[in-house]
Amino acid sequence: FKVKKPENEPVLSYGAYSNERAQLKAKLRELKETQIEIPLIVGGKEIYTGNTKKCLIPHNKDHVLGIYHMAGEQEIEMAIEAALQAKKEWDEMPWQHRASIFLKAAELLSGPWRYTLNAATMLGQSKTAYQAEIDSACELIDFIRFNTYFMTEIYDDQLISTNECWNRIEYRPLEGFVFSVTPFNFTAIGGNLAISPALMGNVVLWKPSRTAVYSNYFVMKLLQEAGLPDGVINFVPSSGGLIGNKVFNHESLAGIHFTGSTGVFNTMWKTIGENIDKYKSYPKIVGETGGKDFIFAHSLANINKLVTALIRGAFEYQGQKCSAASRAYIPNSIWTVLKCKLISEASTIKMGDIEDFTNFMGAVIDKESFDKIKSYIDFARNSDEAEIIWGGKCDDRVGYFIEPTIIATKDPYFKTMTEEIFGPVLTIYVYEDEKFEETLKICNESTPYGLTGGIFSQDRKALILMERLLKYAAGNLYINDKPTGAVVGQQPFGGARASGTNDKAGSKLNLLRWANPRVIKETF
Ligand code: GLU
Repeated sequence: FKVKKPENEPVLSYGAYSNERAQLKAKLRELKETQIEIPLIVGGKEIYTGNTKKCLIPHNKDHVLGIYHMAGEQEIEMAIEAALQAKKEWDEMPWQHRASIFLKAAELLSGPWRYTLNAATMLGQSKTAYQAEIDSACELIDFIRFNTYFMTEIYDDQLISTNECWNRIEYRPLEGFVFSVTPFNFTAIGGNLAISPALMGNVVLWKPSRTAVYSNYFVMKLLQEAGLPDGVINFVPSSGGLIGNKVFNHESLAGIHFTGSTGVFNTMWKTIGENIDKYKSYPKIVGETGGKDFIFAHSLANINKLVTALIRGAFEYQGQKCSAASRAYIPNSIWTVLKCKLISEASTIKMGDIEDFTNFMGAVIDKESFDKIKSYIDFARNSDEAEIIWGGKCDDRVGYFIEPTIIATKDPYFKTMTEEIFGPVLTIYVYEDEKFEETLKICNESTPYGLTGGIFSQDRKALILMERLLKYAAGNLYINDKPTGAVVGQQPFGGARASGTNDKAGSKLNLLRWANPRVIKETF
């Protein structure tokens, strides 16, 4: 029953005067003019708790897009019950029908829904049209179509049987519910963390990031329109502590699907450990966490390619990707030329309102992020060990704008070289060419993370050595390319060490975590 391997959803370019740009602009206007009220969606029903918060535009912080209601203890309990109730039918639904519901959502999203989700992501998360398109349209569509394909591969799995015995393997869903806790930086990740366990027959409590409730709510509405049965995914914005307290104490917690900070993930893991005697099954713990992703250049790197990778890797979406290039190692022999080209390229970057389609950067997500990123820039400004060679200005009068910032340091262990900043800040360490190997070792061990990295050289021997010495430094390693922008079906994404459980989003490995296989032997 194999289905055809899907193709990646084509990326629309939203060129000037194009029909797609006109449609997107109309949606942006419509969303900005209507303040929506976002309820919880529990068991398919809308719940208004009265405990509300605002959805704001990061680059225009006084503009309110809508309000959303927060779940309290009672609603969280209701959501768990609704999920467990829905499980009875969802668990029994033939997988082909489960797949059809999500494939329909992908189809709707490749049509008019595309503009709604992209506009919501642009406004709510300050993404440019291109960054929204590769996220809330293409990546979400790809996650659904590819995961459906991988699911058919899993279910196609056969065991060896003999003349006397027939062996079967049945990929049951988990016995309980899955708790999906999702980040602000990708609408597609929000959707996928809820959808992929559901695709495998599980029921889900979805807690979106407080700064992405707006776009994530539209994902939920899309799934409902595609025919998702009530209670299969329950949309419950809430405070982390409150929902955690209910969920982690519940006997039916069967898994968590998380993307966010290493600190929060560690706390979740410890809490699950403390409560382990309470659960019916060992909860599956799947998480993608922090990163401090590198670009490492060898003296024979192609400088133009390197400049593009540094600029795009560090500054697209304001550096707010787990995969963003935030530290670079550059050999002294190419530094003068590279620095000149890098600064000249950085000086062309336009930042501002994402509705101006010529801007390359918008604002960072909120005040908390703005303050955190600014404190790192200030630290570098006040240090003798570092110099800000480009950017560094932060201005939150209209929105949370931070200039693309490049710091050079003499210390490979400098604070901005080793700590995750999650903003448009790139730190560069210039090494002596003869210390190539030594510096590779520093790159490997100077942070606790292991998510992504890019290595640059036109010399095969150097590439082989880099790949070997950085074996565990990245779960996604890019040769002569930026470390961001993994494409579903092409580069399954994830890292180990303090970057997560490396279950590779958008792959069979991830889907297998949501299965609970039963082997059945029958003798004749
Ligand atoms: N998959 C994204 C990329 O390759 C990053 C995901 C994330 O930020 O969590 O750029």
